[in-house]
Amino acid sequence: MRFPVDHDLHCHTYLSLCSNDPAQTPRSILDFAKAHGYTVQCITDHLWDRLVPDPNGFYRPQDIEHVSENLPLPKDEQVRMVFGCETEYCGGTRLGLDPANYGKFDFIVIPPNHFHMKGLVGSESYDTEEKRAGLLAERLEQLSRMDLPWRKVGIAHITCGLIFSEGDQYKVYSLVDEKRFRGAMRRFAALGAGIEINLSCFGEGWREHSDAMLRLYRLAGEEGCKFYLASDAHHPEGMKVVPERAPEVIEALGLTKEDQFILP
Ligand SMILES: [Zn+2]
Ligand SMILES: [Zn+2]
Repeated sequence: MRFPVDHDLHCHTYLSLCSNDPAQTPRSILDFAKAHGYTVQCITDHLWDRLVPDPNGFYRPQDIEHVSENLPLPKDEQVRMVFGCETEYCGGTRLGLDPANYGKFDFIVIPPNHFHMKGLVGSESYDTEEKRAGLLAERLEQLSRMDLPWRKVGIAHITCGLIFSEGDQYKVYSLVDEKRFRGAMRRFAALGAGIEINLSCFGEGWREHSDAMLRLYRLAGEEGCKFYLASDAHHPEGMKVVPERAPEVIEALGLTKEDQFILP
C-alpha cells in the first residue's frame, strides 16, 4: 500500500512570530486538513521553555504560555488535532524544552540544523559546506543519545536551506558522512522517532539536485526509520505543499504505508 498523504505533523499558527498571520488559525488549519482528507493535523509553533536559560531574542517571547494560547484546539470527528511544538536544539544536551514539560505536548518537533541562528545553534566558524555537513552529523549523533520521549519526537527538515543559507545546501547533503549519519538514523529508528519529510523544502529547484536532496532520506529508510509529512506552513497558502508535492517525493523515495511514522 502506498504511503498516505493524509497528515501534516509540522505546521505553524499566527502565534509563531515568523507567521504572525491572523488568517493562520487552528480553525483554518483544521478546515484545510478536513478538505484534503487528513486524519491527523499537528500544530507546532516555535517554542523555547522558560525553564531553559538563555534563549535568543527570537525565542524569548515564544514560551509555553504563549503557544498554549491556541488551546483548546478545535475538535473534529475526521481529523485528530494534535498539540505539538517546534523547539530548538543547540547541540550537546541543550534542548529548548525542559524535561518537566515534555508532557505538555503530544508531539515535539526538533530541528537539528537551524544553523542560521548564529550564537544559539550555529556559529560563524562553520563557514564551508564540509564544516556544515560535519556539524549536522555531529548534532544528529548527539541528539540521538539524549533521553527524550522518542515516540512523540520528530526530527525536522534534515534537508533545509537554513543548513547553509550562504552556501550550497545540496553540497552539504552530499558531504554528510555516511557511516555517522547511518549510525544516528539507526538509533532514531530503534528509539521510535519520526523523520520528517518537510515539503516546504522541496521547492522548484530540488529535482535538479534530486540525488543530493534524497540521499539522506534514502539512508534513513535503509536504517529502518519511519517518516511523516509536514508542510511547515506559516500561512494558509503554505498548507498546500503537502498535497501538491508529497506524491512526487514519496514516489521518488519508494515509500509505502510500512514506512509511515505513527504518532501514539
Ligand atoms: Zn524549522
Ligand atoms: Zn517550522
